[in-house]
Amino acid sequence: MPELPEAETIRCQLEGEIVGAAVRRLQIHDRRVARAHKSPEDLTALVQGRPIVGVGRRGKAPLLFLDGERPATLVFRLGMTGLLRVVPSDEPLAKGTVAALVLTGGKHLRFLDQRRFGSMVAYPTREVDRTPEFEHYGPEPFSGEFTAEYLKSAFSRRSAKLGIVLMDQRVIAGIGKIYSDEICFRAGIRPGRSAGRLTGPMRERLWQATREVLSEGIDCRGSSARDETYRDIYGIPGTFQERMFVYQRTGEPCRVCGAPIRRTPIPGGRGMHWCPKCQK
Ligand SMILES: [Zn+2]
Repeated sequence: MPELPEAETIRCQLEGEIVGAAVRRLQIHDRRVARAHKSPEDLTALVQGRPIVGVGRRGKAPLLFLDGERPATLVFRLGMTGLLRVVPSDEPLAKGTVAALVLTGGKHLRFLDQRRFGSMVAYPTREVDRTPEFEHYGPEPFSGEFTAEYLKSAFSRRSAKLGIVLMDQRVIAGIGKIYSDEICFRAGIRPGRSAGRLTGPMRERLWQATREVLSEGIDCRGSSARDETYRDIYGIPGTFQERMFVYQRTGEPCRVCGAPIRRTPIPGGRGMHWCPKCQK
């Protein structure tokens, strides 16, 4: 599932490719992609004919800012397997294409989604943080609002496991299972610890590790680990998986101390991966 580094890579690449173009048409190849709207036509009406004036991101979701009579924002919920691809308009439709934005200038922005959990939602506003979807979101990890002090208050009433709290979008936006595991490793903290019981120095390390790991993820253009279908908008895999210390390495030796990496199951079928020696 794409997390912040993947969505940020997409945002950055889209910025160079499609800002300034307009959406001539929205082609919907699978109606489920518009499930958040009353009908696919309702989505189309908010998107079609509008110039793209900017590209943004909130948490794991790339956003297109659209102009026209009323400003609008198009949100791509990538779900488990959603991908965005910018291609020449004559490129044949790839398997799994659920929608395509036909842009002025001869390009298509295509939305591919093998498992169909993703969707597109358009809001008639530019202020996405006021929409029900994002109004309860926590701070962006690279914003000034995200500090070690913030973690103290955000964690104070939470007895849940750190590895789970890190993935709660209401606490911090953009983190999922891959980066949660790697952030905990980098901070030297077991993901099974209660978030509310971290010490001050632990929260400081966690804050720093969050920014470091996510920055590295962005530098690597995201992660295309074994079970991940993620590719960038040109179809190229990310490389962060080459730098992973724990994620999906159950039983393999820790790259720092050699101890076998452990996996703790968590509800929902996913596990947290961690080193019993490097993480306290
Ligand atoms: Zn270790």
